[in-house]
Amino acid sequence: QNGSIRSRCRPNILVTGTPGTGKTTTSSALAEATHLRHLNVGDLVREKNLHDGWDPELESYLINEDLVCDELEDLMEEGGNIVDYLGCDFFPERWFDRVVVLQTDNTVLYDRLSRRGYTGSKLSNNIECEIFQVLLQEAKESYPEDIVVALKSDTIEDITRNVTSLTDWARSWHPAS
Ligand code: ADP
Ligand code: MN
Repeated sequence: QNGSIRSRCRPNILVTGTPGTGKTTTSSALAEATHLRHLNVGDLVREKNLHDGWDPELESYLINEDLVCDELEDLMEEGGNIVDYLGCDFFPERWFDRVVVLQTDNTVLYDRLSRRGYTGSKLSNNIECEIFQVLLQEAKESYPEDIVVALKSDTIEDITRNVTSLTDWARSWHPAS
């Protein structure tokens, strides 16, 4: 099996974006609608210790990218996953059929992250990340342009619309022959 090229029969979708843009909310609604498997990478990193410790300055775990990719490889090969993470440049390009970058108006995002308890540089770094479209750039540099889509995520209506359109996309997806 190793080395043989077998195409998956269900698609893999990456949902990325700055913290607070709605990745987890969108991914879990999409998983419910499509029966694809929601993989929350941040949760997985904490639960399975796929990190190199806590960085007090960044106030987050230092993710171990190799451990994360090893952990996910078999599932990704199988297909049918929604991967929810705030970064995207270290996953193998071949894993994904669609890369969704959620984007939120920065005043809306500021309120969401404040409500989540973000303050100081953690708050301002994330707002800056959103203003400079860091995740959209990262996605465009890491994946073929035609699989990357930026979707607005300011309101509940945006989530509903995004989930509907991604569900339609997933239903009509076929493996490349
Ligand atoms: P992420 O996983 O990207 O960090 P979450 O899905 O956890 O973001 O959402 C963060 C908070 O913002 C949650 O309280 C969620 O209900 C809210 N939220 C996210 N996206 C939207 C949206 N499009 N409209 C309204 N509220 C949203
Ligand atoms: Mn999340």
